[in-house]
Amino acid sequence: MSEFISITGARANNLQDVTLRIPKGRLTVFTGVSGSGKSSVVFDTIAVESQRQLNETFTWFVRNRLPKYERPHADALEDLSPAIVVDQRPVGGHSRSTVGTMTDIHSVLRVLFSRHGTPSAGAATAYSFNDPSGMCPGCDGLGRRVQPDWDRILDPARSLADGAVRFPPFAAGTWQGQAYTNTAELDPDKPVGDFTDTEHMFLMRGRPGSKVTVNGTGGTWTTEYEGLADRFERLYLKRDLSAMAEKTRELVRRFLVEGRCPQCGGARLNAAALATRIDGRSIADCSAVQVTDLITVLGEIDDPVARPIAAAAVTALERVEAIGLGYLSLDRETSTLSGGEGQRLKTVRHLGSSLTGMTYVFDEPSAGLHPRDVGRLGDLLLRLRDKGNTVLVVEHDPDVIALADHVVDMGPRAGADGGRVVFEGTPGELARADTLTGRFLGRPTTVKEDPRTPTGELWVKDAGRHNLRDVTVAFPTGVLTAVTGVAGSGKSTLVAELVAGHPDAVVVDQSAIGISARSTPATYLGIMDTVRKLFARETGAEAGFFSFNSAGACGTCGGRGVIHTDLAFMDPVTITCHDCEGRRFREEVLGLTVRGSSIADVLAMTADQALDFFADAGVRRRLRALRDVGLTYLTLGQPLSTLSGGERQRVKLATRLHRTGAVYVLDEPTTGLHLSDVEGLLALLDRLVDSGNTVVVVEHHLDVVAHADRVIDLGPDGGRDGGRVIFEGTPRELLTARGSSTAEHLRRATT
Ligand code: ADP
Ligand code: ADP
Ligand code: ZN
Ligand code: ZN
Repeated sequence: MSEFISITGARANNLQDVTLRIPKGRLTVFTGVSGSGKSSVVFDTIAVESQRQLNETFTWFVRNRLPKYERPHADALEDLSPAIVVDQRPVGGHSRSTVGTMTDIHSVLRVLFSRHGTPSAGAATAYSFNDPSGMCPGCDGLGRRVQPDWDRILDPARSLADGAVRFPPFAAGTWQGQAYTNTAELDPDKPVGDFTDTEHMFLMRGRPGSKVTVNGTGGTWTTEYEGLADRFERLYLKRDLSAMAEKTRELVRRFLVEGRCPQCGGARLNAAALATRIDGRSIADCSAVQVTDLITVLGEIDDPVARPIAAAAVTALERVEAIGLGYLSLDRETSTLSGGEGQRLKTVRHLGSSLTGMTYVFDEPSAGLHPRDVGRLGDLLLRLRDKGNTVLVVEHDPDVIALADHVVDMGPRAGADGGRVVFEGTPGELARADTLTGRFLGRPTTVKEDPRTPTGELWVKDAGRHNLRDVTVAFPTGVLTAVTGVAGSGKSTLVAELVAGHPDAVVVDQSAIGISARSTPATYLGIMDTVRKLFARETGAEAGFFSFNSAGACGTCGGRGVIHTDLAFMDPVTITCHDCEGRRFREEVLGLTVRGSSIADVLAMTADQALDFFADAGVRRRLRALRDVGLTYLTLGQPLSTLSGGERQRVKLATRLHRTGAVYVLDEPTTGLHLSDVEGLLALLDRLVDSGNTVVVVEHHLDVVAHADRVIDLGPDGGRDGGRVIFEGTPRELLTARGSSTAEHLRRATT
């Protein structure tokens, strides 16, 4: 076995014949400006080839049924070990996936309750909300249920005769509505809000044997009285809505809300499972408290038989705490986690595994982490290494870089000006190296001395959502504000409250750009129309010819440039279209050129190159916006689906510059940015403020905090121990603040 992974002549994306040896069993950090080629080495070369080689180990019978993985563009890749990619892609969206199920801690709790809880509900599955034997029958274990929206259906200020029932099919005067106005049990002229509990119960649920007389086309008849709720549920909830006429469906939908399941109160489990207790707590109670509290609860179990199982759960919970996620509860749905939280949670599973000799690949694991918690993250990476694994990390954070056994610095710049290894060695050597990363490492942060004067204030009052403790705070307008605090302290929640109260807010987050898989920077910026018209005018062909979404598309791949195969039991696989070779257009379209460039050539241009090509003022303005947000290296045709979260955020920002009087809200805009790129981002935020906007950023990057006009620091900790404003003021004032981790780290960074 060789002690190195060796790569010879790698050419994925912008890589320029990269040849590299990476020590096995060590922590290697890849640095370099964004777009320099870090991911191209780590993800598109090493991880892809490792997956391909793993597939080669299957028998020919299995292999023939698998798609052919493309070999990465490289002359040779040797001595790889199986790779596990721990990235920031959202962790499974479905609502049955929770922090507890994802980490497998929920199954340990199930064993604990089935063996040691009283009264026992049965074997372990009896405590699983994903299994019929344990799930609440009211919501099938989802904890939520679609239910009638009674606030909408009933107007308490009105009487039954005067239209209290607002759901049209049951309204007063309709044949169904007569049941409620005609029943002898209820006063049709009394406001529904004034009903006694008995009357209200009768209205909703009726009483066995109670009759009512109604008039219909066939005359008058007497029938069984059916309560309003019973009738609504029978006709609209217990039937398949999708089988109803479109109009009925639309109507009914307006009178439904999704809410906590009334049967289990959101606990997801059936009554038998919920009745089982250990020290007075049900498994749902244990899942609802935050991890740090659950550690204490389980630690107090002193039954000698139960203790070993509780201890196993505590060990796993302590791993969750160790990565700075102690503020989460096990019942939290994974779909609500941020990318960084999800990535750290995925790591927990691997920490518990006994596999060695693997290659773990991380994508900026410090994203979303306060400097206080970066140390703990580092311990985690080192622990993975010490179990005999190779750990590869793409990172910008100096504290993570400092932990590396080996650093590979990519550059010198982005895109075509990058793609080379500009430095290899230890972090200490990097700090002295003449590369962009080397020059920026170890530079002290400087605190802003002359903060801007606010033009006014935007208030968030008595905010109490999630963990916020009745927070009232003023966001100054006309300045740059940084909202800081450890993960889980309530930053996103507070900022969401600000946005909810101020409709003119421009939110620029990292979520997926909700357009089709065919979106590119060119379509997103809205320049494709002009480009197509230019091509039509100059070549005489129809404009539609120059669209890979219509007439011009390659017939084999339908204009996607790639062919996508979904496999039931594996990750989907994408291969380049063999016909157009990824160029997306039909042969004859590629023959039509403007000043020597085909439409495919234009889509292969970077923003900078396109600025030399186009004269149109509108197109140039939009391309310059791309340059302003630091994305000059992106090509016009690169699928948006291939961008990182940080890049997506900057593309969005590019389309929303040029406003005045707006409130811009950015969630960790430095994600994916090199130390040297942060200066460019700050210049951009300054321009936004100086042209009359208010800018609020949620940030951990101390250069951004130090550069803000105002800092709002939340804490002191995450979850239950957070949710308070612990500091408000200028960065200079923050330097002397007590009891704030942000202040502590800012002091350290400025010296
Ligand atoms: P980094 O990880 O250092 O930010 P990348 O390896 O992601 O850099 O990108 C290097 C270059 O390759 C950039 O110019 C980027 O635009 C380009 N690139 C990355 N992924 C793709 C892709 N899927 N298709 C085309 N170009 C890509
Ligand atoms: P930050 O942005 O500072 O990391 P958040 O505002 O995301 O903090 O979280 C504050 C608290 O609210 C944490 O305890 C977190 O677990 C909780 N929380 C955040 N989002 C949700 C959600 N969608 N459902 C339930 N709890 C949430
Ligand atoms: Zn339920
Ligand atoms: Zn094709």
